[in-house]
Amino acid sequence: MTNGFSDTCDLCQGKGDFFWVEHEGDSSKWHSEKIYTDRKLPIDKGTVYVSAAYINHLYQAYIWSRNYPEIEFIVGGPVAASRECAADAWAPLYFQVRDNVQFPENLKVTGQSVEDIFKISNFSSPWRLEVPHTMVDPESPIYFSYTLDNGCYWGKCIYCNIKEAPRELFRSREDMNYAFAQLAHPGRKIVRLNTGSITPKNIREILPNLPRRNDLEYRTFMRSAKAENQALKNALAQMKGDFPALTLGIGIEFPSDRMLRFMGKGITKADILETLRICAQYKVKVNGNVILGWGNLLEEDIRDLERFFEGMPDESMTTAQLRWLYAHPHTIIHEQYQGEPAHLGPFYLGFSTEISPEQMTFNQEAVKIIQKYSQKKRFKLEGLGNMKTP
Ligand code: SF4
Repeated sequence: MTNGFSDTCDLCQGKGDFFWVEHEGDSSKWHSEKIYTDRKLPIDKGTVYVSAAYINHLYQAYIWSRNYPEIEFIVGGPVAASRECAADAWAPLYFQVRDNVQFPENLKVTGQSVEDIFKISNFSSPWRLEVPHTMVDPESPIYFSYTLDNGCYWGKCIYCNIKEAPRELFRSREDMNYAFAQLAHPGRKIVRLNTGSITPKNIREILPNLPRRNDLEYRTFMRSAKAENQALKNALAQMKGDFPALTLGIGIEFPSDRMLRFMGKGITKADILETLRICAQYKVKVNGNVILGWGNLLEEDIRDLERFFEGMPDESMTTAQLRWLYAHPHTIIHEQYQGEPAHLGPFYLGFSTEISPEQMTFNQEAVKIIQKYSQKKRFKLEGLGNMKTP
């Protein structure tokens, strides 16, 4: 349910009809133009608002705008976030538009929220998601967002461009009314408490009040900083054994203190271990994101990474998700590294980093250590296929 209209469902319904499109989850198919041209719209004139969560959704809107010249397309959503935004201008935050590309005149991309577009206050409508039961089995699990905010108070990690988002488009939910608990869908509901990184204040105020039911699960991202750890510990202790089914996504990145400093995380490996200890104690599931593909590793980083995994409590992490370092436009990594540029239609997306043979050896050694500890500490390893080999 990657639409962004849950906060404004009634508002949107008052303006027209919903048209749901199935998301192509297999990103290897995203480059096949046929996928996009085969999707037909039920109208050929009027206005279509598109919620683009991923770049292929935006590309779909681009293809439609060329194939349906009498429809005006207005595209918002997470991937359409803007970098610097005068009232009527838009510059993309997460990608670049290729040189010499002329956007079709009937395609307007905006970093504004739906409320901004229709000139009402952000989060002023009731939250109400309409689950399209013609497409989704009522008994099947659904995964959807409940927005806490659209930023990250930290914003310093050198591979992340979230800090470039304009302050005036920052939006944060003030009235946390947990309306998703009333959602009319019998199957399991996985609620993504959406934010770049949950704040200590939100950990303290929101987590203890999350509705607990067998059909509700939660996921959110947290920096393993000291203030967050303290807030998490207090919030979980306060629940006295009655915990919500919660999975925390945390950035382990490359767990050597030198590398964590280099990438501007503002945390140490001891802080990450503390998050894992708290989560193990209170049965919170953890999805740890690990980044390989660095070009500046030293022998000491590899030993530090090994000490980190050795110090990790058994079964404290459910899954480690391995990624190769990706240089997104407008990041420091993009300036420092090189690689094969990736495009989707008119959009330039950045590149996967290329590194020297010596650095490749270090990175591979790190992967082997993580593999060894995935058995020893019993966490599931995902993303091995993303690792480059010489
Ligand atoms: S904590 Fe996460 S969202 Fe925030 S700057 Fe770092 S990588 Fe980006």
